[in-house]
Amino acid sequence: MSFTRVILCFKRFLTIIQLKPQTFNQLQLKISFAIFILFASAAFAYRIWVQVPAIERSLLKVSEQELVALNFAFEQMSMPLHTINYDYAVWDQTYNYMKSNSPVAKEYYEQHEYPDDTFKSLKVDGIFIFDNDNNAVFSKGFHHSSDAQGLEFDIADFSKHPEHKLLSPLTKTASPPQVQPFNSPSSVPTKTGVIATKYGPALYSSSSILQSDRTGPIMGYIVFIRLIDDEFMAELSKFTSAGVELSEIKPSDDVAHIPYLGSGFDLTKLTPTSQRLVRNIDGRPLIKFTLYHTNSEPPSVLGSDIYILVAEMSILLLLAYFLYSYFLVQPVRKLAIDIEEMDRSREIKKLRYRYPITELVNVATHFNALMGTIQEQTKQLNEQVYIDKLTNIPNRRAFEQRLETYCQLLARQQIAFTLIIADVDHFKEYNDTLGHVAGDETLIKVAQVLNQQFFRAEDICARLGGEEFIMLYRDIPDEPLQRKLDAMLQAFEDLALPHPSATTATHVTVSLGVCKVLAVEGFEFKSSPNIIGRQATLAADSALYQAKKAGRNCYVKTSISVDEIEQLEHESPSNQP
Ligand code: GH3
Ligand code: MG
Ligand code: MG
Repeated sequence: MSFTRVILCFKRFLTIIQLKPQTFNQLQLKISFAIFILFASAAFAYRIWVQVPAIERSLLKVSEQELVALNFAFEQMSMPLHTINYDYAVWDQTYNYMKSNSPVAKEYYEQHEYPDDTFKSLKVDGIFIFDNDNNAVFSKGFHHSSDAQGLEFDIADFSKHPEHKLLSPLTKTASPPQVQPFNSPSSVPTKTGVIATKYGPALYSSSSILQSDRTGPIMGYIVFIRLIDDEFMAELSKFTSAGVELSEIKPSDDVAHIPYLGSGFDLTKLTPTSQRLVRNIDGRPLIKFTLYHTNSEPPSVLGSDIYILVAEMSILLLLAYFLYSYFLVQPVRKLAIDIEEMDRSREIKKLRYRYPITELVNVATHFNALMGTIQEQTKQLNEQVYIDKLTNIPNRRAFEQRLETYCQLLARQQIAFTLIIADVDHFKEYNDTLGHVAGDETLIKVAQVLNQQFFRAEDICARLGGEEFIMLYRDIPDEPLQRKLDAMLQAFEDLALPHPSATTATHVTVSLGVCKVLAVEGFEFKSSPNIIGRQATLAADSALYQAKKAGRNCYVKTSISVDEIEQLEHESPSNQP
């Protein structure tokens, strides 16, 4: 797979996991799962393509070592036989024995040199002496490991076993010896190998008989034999550290595929056993060693270590998941919940800063700052909505809201109020004479003068529109009201804004229409409280009209009670069926 294809696959994977908005936990789970799959795949790939082949190679090496050890052990165990055989052959006593014609001397040699104990101590099972014409001069068999067991080998029976003539060190062997020849001086012919006997396969060693100083002429040869029996095999197994089994080859056995001992050390695959053949003296396969390797099976791909690795990874991922949840997801979720709550309640509250992550604290700080700005802007906007642009006092909307509250208080709690409409006298002429700009400035001053008469937060002085103002006093008794009205007219006199074209006075004046809206003890107001406001405004307007008619720069007071208002409302033509 090319690199660009890998990148494309990765991008596709990312789009799959980001298809739709998801919670932090969902995303976290998916990422953790993806990491787990990637890690497990990587671990298995490493196990299959790197670790298992490496282990297999080293196990194979061990098996090869075991084969080398078998070969080495066989040679090592053959060595003593060669040494003693050589020692007996290249020895003046044997040489003289061969030369001597005295039966007494011969018997002496045979009895003194080859008693049973010699067989035991030398670990030899058969000793044969031949002259140069292959005539057996002496032969004795004695099983060295089982006491008093005489053996009668037919080694010297050349008519039965013509191949035994090959035992002579001077005859050439058809095939290479299985056991490497003893490192004897080149002047002494020797021969070693394996031979079939009636008691089973045996190691043999034969050396030419010479004088101790290796001078001749050669007087024949001595053959030593050691049976490859259970004792031999037990010793061999000690060398190899792996189990070795011996079996004899029958003529019917197909052994063509089995290599000979001393070859085939390079193994290609792990097998429970390896088999190696050993040749008879005539070159035919005689015995088979079966070596049981310590490592017979290649390592399993799903070994316990891979499970432990994956389990460790899972625990780590789980730990990372919980830590990540605790330190990141929970705080972010908390922040989201706080903002959501704020949005739902429409109430701007400062976010708490108890977040364990600097970035979240920054988000909260900036969010609070943003909310502060929004709060400020909302406040300004509200003010603009309820404030008259020109005069900077409450506008008609603000007034209507307050009037509604007052009407409800009157209807439900019998709290009376007074509504006053003020209208600047001859203002059209004022504009006509002094211009609109001057008119606007005067309106601002009129607003200030009127507004000065309102101290209590619940009372209001608003611009109704044009040169008209409207005011509310809550629960004001007659006398203070009187004083307020007088103070208003007096304030304009004191202000003394010149009004050149007025006929009423030389300064700017106002006329006031006043309506006291009275509560009635025990009266239950059943209609909508809004009608109180409407009737009160109509009554104040009518009083204003009276004031204008009365010559302006004055006030006319009227009053109306809630029961009258309800009555009027019922009688109103618009409410008639
Ligand atoms: P009256 O004494 O009967 O009240 O006579 P008036 O001239 O004051 O009343 P009228 O209703 O005939 O005229 C009202 C004038 O108020 C008309 C308009 O030029 C003036 N006016 C209304 N709004 C504004 C404003 O915002 N600025 C200025 N400069 N003049 C305004
Ligand atoms: Mg007017
Ligand atoms: Mg007017």
